[in-house]
Amino acid sequence: MSRSDVSLGSLLESTREFDITEGRFDRADMVSFRRVRTISFDAMNFLLCTSIAIGEEDYYKTLIAFYDLSYTGYGLSKPSEIDTPVRVSCSCPDFYFTFSEWNYEENSLYGRRRKKYTRKTFDRPERNIYHIPGLCKHLVNLKQILLDLNIIERSHYAS
Ligand SMILES: [Zn+2]
Repeated sequence: MSRSDVSLGSLLESTREFDITEGRFDRADMVSFRRVRTISFDAMNFLLCTSIAIGEEDYYKTLIAFYDLSYTGYGLSKPSEIDTPVRVSCSCPDFYFTFSEWNYEENSLYGRRRKKYTRKTFDRPERNIYHIPGLCKHLVNLKQILLDLNIIERSHYAS
């Protein structure tokens, strides 16, 4: 698999496009995380950010991986929201059913491809008819936390 060419900013943009009525961005404010950890792989120019989101019924593993960072002598350069290639994943049902297959297709899924979801009911329209890759509310919120913690570079173009 080649490296990702997709930035967080572009995933946010496609999520916004998809999420006109579903309120992922509003609900993201209500997500709480148990802990956020960052693991820096300096020799591989790779930064992994993981967290456990506390859901209504379950805990979810939420993860954003940043690629192609440069080593500055003290550590890795700070990832940028618009330029740094990322892969993401979350173990919640929304990410699985709505986005993971399309993130996989776009090369922005972290980890193994999930078993392809086969639809059992055809009386309702497909969840993501345009096959848009994106972020669940946990990933939207984790991005915000990484910005607040100053782990990723704030940009003027994306929020
Ligand atoms: Zn999620």
